[in-house]
Amino acid sequence: MSSAKHPVIVAGAGPVGMVAAASLVRQGIPVLVLEKSGDLSRESRASTFHPPTLDMLDDLGFAQALIAQGLKAPTVQYSSTADGLLGTFDFSAISDLTRHPFRLQAEQFKLTRIVLEALRDNPLFAIEFECEVTGIAQTADGVKMTATQAGLEVVFECDWLIGADGANSIVRRAQDIPFEGFTWPERFLVMTTPVDFTALRPGVSSVSYVADPERWHFLLRIIGAWRVMMPVPNDMSDETALSPAYVEESIRRVVPPQIDAAIQHTTLYRVHQRVATSFQKGRTFLVGDAAHINNPLGGMGMNGGIHDALNLTGKLGPVINGSADASLLADYDLQRRTVTMQAIQGDTIRNKRNLEAKDEADRARFRDEIRAAAADGEKGRQLLRRIAMLDSLARAASLHAA
Ligand SMILES: Cc1cc2nc3c(=O)[nH]c(=O)nc-3n(C[C@H](O)[C@H](O)[C@H](O)COP(=O)(O)OP(=O)(O)OC[C@H]3O[C@@H](n4cnc5c(N)ncnc54)[C@H](O)[C@@H]3O)c2cc1C
Repeated sequence: MSSAKHPVIVAGAGPVGMVAAASLVRQGIPVLVLEKSGDLSRESRASTFHPPTLDMLDDLGFAQALIAQGLKAPTVQYSSTADGLLGTFDFSAISDLTRHPFRLQAEQFKLTRIVLEALRDNPLFAIEFECEVTGIAQTADGVKMTATQAGLEVVFECDWLIGADGANSIVRRAQDIPFEGFTWPERFLVMTTPVDFTALRPGVSSVSYVADPERWHFLLRIIGAWRVMMPVPNDMSDETALSPAYVEESIRRVVPPQIDAAIQHTTLYRVHQRVATSFQKGRTFLVGDAAHINNPLGGMGMNGGIHDALNLTGKLGPVINGSADASLLADYDLQRRTVTMQAIQGDTIRNKRNLEAKDEADRARFRDEIRAAAADGEKGRQLLRRIAMLDSLARAASLHAA
């Protein structure tokens, strides 16, 4: 590791930090990434890339490799246990707005590996694994960071620090930036199974939301398997929720008893809706989960984080290269925090409330809204623009601090 002052350090080598690093390197800016783990994560987490995110990754040269490792989902479907199919929406209806009119189902760990492979030999890029950032101090012209590496304390200095260090971000906590919001009382159980839902439910989309007042579910197809997500009752222990008996009872809600329902993997996780009160503090920035976390209904967490990374680096690059004034950076917080609050938090909370609605009036409102969008081309396009996150990107681009 170097004791020289770095133009940019990125804390965290998740999908958001790696995309931020790639975007800066592409602009000729040297970047050092510090990652506390010994390797890139293999965790089973996000697996949806929305159309504009694919357009952005294409501009960086990563989309084709990712598409080759993923599954294209051309449609999204909404149903309810009471009313059956409510609507199926085909992304080809917005093919004038994106070069990738489909959702791509590919695990996030595939993207981080594609990016690292592309950057590995680039002299502008460096990454330190097993290097955990532990503290941050800002001076007028830079940021000083402490980190632990191989049991030793090391110090790094940079002009600009990008905190892409996830929900528990030290970049955020060390600077006392509040992470406001709430935690849902229930947890979500995700079961990965090779069961063929296309045979069980003819016409099912690779992305299917099913509303139910007792136990809604969400089906998401990835290569060779489906993920089935359901809420777990608030008073159930984690141990019981992950027990073979409860997992079997849960999968049997969507798979009949005569079909073998092998479970390859289960994840149980607590779901939060939180946003940092500021995405910039002096020479440090928050991106991705460090800046905001939300429930996964709509697949907006990682996608929103990648949008943060490219919004920020699209401003920071020109500032570092001398073609833009540092005042431009104020737009990052304004643009991304505004749409995070309005679109990402608003949409994911609404998605959850629609699926779990118990009140007949709420159920009817959701049913009528989806049916109306399915029956009317322009309303269908509006829904697709919103769920594909095109609207939030357009709204962000329209906001300017000065
Ligand atoms: C089950 C599940 C399903 C999901 N599905 C979707 C989906 O379909 N679509 C979607 O868009 N989002 C989804 N999400 C959310 C998505 O996984 C996150 O939004 C995404 O991982 C955020 O990426 P990130 O790079 O900001 O943070 P992370 O992926 O958390 O990466 C942060 C990195 O920083 C490192 N780090 C942490 N602290 C330090 C430190 N002090 N020093 C150095 N390094 C550090 C970590 O080791 C990690 O590598 C899902 C999440 C879960 C849990």
